[in-house]
Amino acid sequence: MAKRNYEDSYLHKGLRKQLVDYLRETRMIKDESVLRAINNVPRHFFLDSAFDRIAYEDRAFPIESGQTISQPYTVAYQTQLLQIKNTDSVLEIGTGSIYQASVLAEMGADVFTIERQKKLFDAQKEFPLKEKYPNIHFFYGDGYQGLPDYAPFDKILITAAAPYIPEKLMAQLKVGGKMVIPIQDFDDAQTMMRITKNDDGTWEEEVFDKFSFVPMLKGEQ
Ligand code: SAH
Repeated sequence: MAKRNYEDSYLHKGLRKQLVDYLRETRMIKDESVLRAINNVPRHFFLDSAFDRIAYEDRAFPIESGQTISQPYTVAYQTQLLQIKNTDSVLEIGTGSIYQASVLAEMGADVFTIERQKKLFDAQKEFPLKEKYPNIHFFYGDGYQGLPDYAPFDKILITAAAPYIPEKLMAQLKVGGKMVIPIQDFDDAQTMMRITKNDDGTWEEEVFDKFSFVPMLKGEQ
């Protein structure tokens, strides 16, 4: 198990405030409810203590099983596109470090998060914010299948590079609901897309900026 520092010092809080100011002023994140959540979630809790002092730089970092914790800008960007309400139920594909799920939970959403790497899934047993966020529900499995037993969802968030829009996940989205998904391009990058489901089963697609994610893979591990 990775070593962690679960103390939230004034230094951490100060660095977090600087990160939030940077996301607002330089990276143009406008949704104050997203910025407030980022200000309230101690990102260094989700990283090995070796990264303690750099946890609030706007960077992705390695976590276990060759995966990454998304860059704060990416987390802010995807969360802003989702237009989260505190009544939303959200399906997240790719629990990873649990950081993104915690930001959604901090905003009051009911979060259903799936991870295909057993080792990462098992780490939720020792998640220090479990009592603070009883609204995060953890599942081990293949995100391509979604969670039919808990569907339909108001929002669906994919935090890995998807080769296409998974049909099974579209079926688990409410009418009027939104899916935010980075779709693999021909080059190494992904294009962020937001899909809104119509009442006749068709959907609208909006195209946003390019990002870089680890791949969304099939099956469990
Ligand atoms: N949301 C995470 C980002 C983790 S990176 C965070 O805040 O830290 C993407 C994660 O997606 C990895 O942990 C990877 O194992 C997971 N993943 C990839 N394909 C998946 C799939 N089909 N189902 C579930 N999880 C998947």
